[in-house]
Amino acid sequence: MNVTVTRFAPSPTGRLHLGHAYSAIYAAEKARNESGRFLLRIEDIDTERCRSEYEEGIFEDLAWLGLEWEEPVRRQSDYSEDYCAALKELQGRGLVYPCFCTRKDILREIQNSGQAPHQMPDQIYPGTCRLLTLTQRERCLSNKTPYSLRIDAAAAADLAGPLCFRDKEHGCILVDPKLQGDAVISRKDIGTSYHLAVVVDDALQGITCVTRGEDLLSATHLQRLLQAVLGLPSPQYEHHVLLVDDSGKRLAKRNYSSTIKGLRDAGHSPEDVRRMTGIGTL
Ligand code: GLU
Repeated sequence: MNVTVTRFAPSPTGRLHLGHAYSAIYAAEKARNESGRFLLRIEDIDTERCRSEYEEGIFEDLAWLGLEWEEPVRRQSDYSEDYCAALKELQGRGLVYPCFCTRKDILREIQNSGQAPHQMPDQIYPGTCRLLTLTQRERCLSNKTPYSLRIDAAAAADLAGPLCFRDKEHGCILVDPKLQGDAVISRKDIGTSYHLAVVVDDALQGITCVTRGEDLLSATHLQRLLQAVLGLPSPQYEHHVLLVDDSGKRLAKRNYSSTIKGLRDAGHSPEDVRRMTGIGTL
């Protein structure tokens, strides 16, 4: 039988809050209950926003909560060749294209398409650069116009065929490639993206169950598609509820009083924090 392997994968862009405590405890408990392994991954590809002091804060907060994770910790910024190799594979299959659009271009395109923004949320790229002719593309490349690389979601879905993923709460979910559209797979500034790095890491670390907030449920559609076209295994998913504050708003790292450090400084114990997360036995 396969051993359960879970992970907690925070980005060091601020101090962890109560919602992170919930998520980390959830993953650790799941591994413990199933005599499995619990891994920690530092998702720090965004060098602009990530800071080493926040990474130290992650270790400190998790240890204070009494969590134990397996060493070594995988720090994404140390593994850019792995993401590069995956990107090359996608390029080799003709599934990515360069996108020269700026944020403004994309917004203008959406407005011009006559669709209300809520019908076409601005993270869904309208596909402008997919339609460039070879000459237009080459002109932009030779002009050194900065570009990101986007997945051609329809082509990837054609190649992969119908796909689904299993979520504990929602059962078997059919992948909708349109949900994330032609997402950026390699950012202009960092040469990779959250989606690509997560898919590669989950496979390389042998993660059997991805536990994370339900805000990432729609990202799983794209990640399942990437797993399929890259020939990577697909883990099980447990998308859990997100904790909210008293006014019903999602917790934010910038609100110090709900960070683990803030609660600790206010005199709360690790047991208090665990109780505040409301996490019972899984
Ligand atoms: N790094 C992401 C975050 O901090 C989590 C990604 C994931 O669990 O897949 O929100």
